[in-house]
Amino acid sequence: MAAHPLFADGFKTTPYWWEAATPARFDAPLPDETDVVVIGGGYAGLNCALTLARAGTRVVVVDAAEIGWGASSRNGGMVSGGMKVSDPKIEKLYGAEVANGIREDGWSSFTHIEDLIRREGIDCDYVRSGRFVGAHTPRDYAAMEARAPKLRAATGAVVEMVPRARQHEQIGSDYYYGGMVVEGTGALHPAKYVRALAGKVAEAGATLCSHARVEGIVREEGGFVVKSTRGTIHAREVMAATNGYTGPVTPWLRRRLIPVGSYIIATEPLPPEVTAKLSPKGRMFSDSKKVLYYFRLSPDGTRVLFGGRASFRQTTPELAAPVLHRFMTGVWPELAQTKITHSWTGNVAFTFDMVPHMGVHDGVHYAMGCQGSGVAMASYLGNQVALKILGRTNRQCAFDGLPFPTRPLYRGNPWFLPIVGSWYRLSDGIARWRAR
Ligand SMILES: Cc1cc2nc3c(=O)[nH]c(=O)nc-3n(C[C@H](O)[C@H](O)[C@H](O)COP(=O)(O)OP(=O)(O)OC[C@H]3O[C@@H](n4cnc5c(N)ncnc54)[C@H](O)[C@@H]3O)c2cc1C
Repeated sequence: MAAHPLFADGFKTTPYWWEAATPARFDAPLPDETDVVVIGGGYAGLNCALTLARAGTRVVVVDAAEIGWGASSRNGGMVSGGMKVSDPKIEKLYGAEVANGIREDGWSSFTHIEDLIRREGIDCDYVRSGRFVGAHTPRDYAAMEARAPKLRAATGAVVEMVPRARQHEQIGSDYYYGGMVVEGTGALHPAKYVRALAGKVAEAGATLCSHARVEGIVREEGGFVVKSTRGTIHAREVMAATNGYTGPVTPWLRRRLIPVGSYIIATEPLPPEVTAKLSPKGRMFSDSKKVLYYFRLSPDGTRVLFGGRASFRQTTPELAAPVLHRFMTGVWPELAQTKITHSWTGNVAFTFDMVPHMGVHDGVHYAMGCQGSGVAMASYLGNQVALKILGRTNRQCAFDGLPFPTRPLYRGNPWFLPIVGSWYRLSDGIARWRAR
């Protein structure tokens, strides 16, 4: 098949991020026995393992692929302080008290990751970039304006409304009807973060084992037997941190998570005068659509990385790339001839109540379901699980032990996504058409 005309020479279907930091192989043999087995070597699993190992607990982290292979080395690298969990729907669902706790923990997730990066000296291009959330319609702008004071109160962050007339101060585009700037948010290089974190976990004394897929967890006297493709291990505690890759080994969790593919492209390097116009302040960008775009410049400021749901059916990065390019040129028409060097995908995990969850089921700890916004949150929840295992929590985390809903007959295969996703995309289109 001829390469697509938009693909640059040497086009790759691996993450742009892996050019600087590939997920790490750890070939150490699996020990026979440990205190805690952590399944999944992403942000959640590694944050859990780091805190446990630093406290002197024996920890083994196992991943089916390389450590950090999942969403943690594939995401957009946008770090938020609980913007998603300040959604008014959460208050309707769980009441004001729980919603307040969730907002507080949302903000704590941001301070947790900033403290961690500073304290551990993690080299991951972290900057407090701020985020511009574009309004898809004037109605969305009004809704953001109404929500801004709550977000400000919950996070203590500067939240500023930017009307359409001043939009070019934030983004060189006329695509949005103004938007909201949230200053208390950041940006990092996701693959550098997860790789450095894995190094810290190993330094702290934990054992990391890549290419060890867990195929069975069986309870035994005083703990569990964890069976993996690299051997069997006995452990007092087990933590599942498998998020959008949760499989049949934890069927109860699988029934509660909706894995969704998200796609990103990276463009070829652009001239500095172009990038300065596209993103004058180096913000992270997302928007108010139901099926949103998220995009940014690369940490070195040379490329555009543009992400979104290119398809609601399983598709390939090759097929997703032109779709994302079309979305990108909707925002920045001047990029119509710009070529794509990388296109890749990864799984995020949604939940039926749109809230992240941590807790214990059948004795197995878990932390997952960050709705595509887990750089800070998965890191935070992993740490919270560790503190819980150590008995060191000052107060119960607001995400801990919430009812974790599923739906009748749902077994983890989201057959309904193409229908729901197409409806969301159609309603985005109708809302935009009405706003003209
Ligand atoms: C394309 C994309 C863009 C995103 N952009 C952003 C963003 O800009 N900002 C943001 O905040 N969030 C973003 N996210 C979400 C964020 O990346 C995730 O919430 C976060 O990385 C989840 O971390 P985790 O540790 O829970 O899971 P993961 O990093 O997905 O790790 C799970 C691991 O579990 C392993 N595993 C699964 N089953 C088994 C088994 N049986 N045995 C052993 N190992 C197993 C997998 O191999 C995988 O490595 C994005 C996600 C994607 C995919």
